[in-house]
Amino acid sequence: MKREDIALIAHDVILNFDLPIDKPLVLFVDRQRFSRYLDLMHMKKHVDRTPCFTIQTHGGPVIYFCDEIVLSLVDGRSHDEASMFIEAITLHELFHIANHLPADTNEAAVLAEELAAQDMRSRYPKHYRLLRSVSQASQKLFKHNSTTRA
Ligand SMILES: [Zn+2]
Repeated sequence: MKREDIALIAHDVILNFDLPIDKPLVLFVDRQRFSRYLDLMHMKKHVDRTPCFTIQTHGGPVIYFCDEIVLSLVDGRSHDEASMFIEAITLHELFHIANHLPADTNEAAVLAEELAAQDMRSRYPKHYRLLRSVSQASQKLFKHNSTTRA
């Protein structure tokens, strides 16, 4: 799977999302830059387990994807599961955008993650389960205990 394939899936999810949101721009960055952005935002997360994140700009929301990390997380899974994972991480970001919650403190960020997870669980249970499964597999893989949030 290539960047173009990931972009196509993400755009499809964005176009079909049924809550009123500012449609985000989707951008791809390489691993090095992606990691630097995470550091700049002081996001407490492990780069190997974070495939994408959203920032608010004056021009609207932007979702940054790192295709290398996306693909490493679904390594060994079927094409359908990989596609569904990309749908799931995009939906997760769209719920963040729809919820308009600040994530400027650790507590606020945890709350924002919990709410996005609840939205996923109630509206996209299959996607929710796949996200959990990939997240749990990656925690074993990278042996890291920090909370996952993106
Ligand atoms: Zn998140």
